Amino acid sequence: MDGNKHYVCCFCDTFIEPSNGDPCEVDILINFDKPKNKQSNQSFYCHINCFKNQLHEQIKSYFYLECLVECEDSID
Ligand SMILES: [Zn+2]
Repeated sequence: MDGNKHYVCCFCDTFIEPSNGDPCEVDILINFDKPKNKQSNQSFYCHINCFKNQLHEQIKSYFYLECLVECEDSID
């Protein structure tokens, strides 16, 4: 990642200030279950909280990345 680049969140369309966990890259791979030659991928950027807020309430319980970010901070 280029530290001088500015990223815009794909969910809220605002600039992402580098901070605890941000910016995030969301990679989408279409035809995930198909052969590689049928697949294609694209990356988007977002705030970690915007991504999490888009998840269904039941899926949010599986989201653990914030814990990793908090753990990294506690090491510093
Ligand atoms: Zn956002």
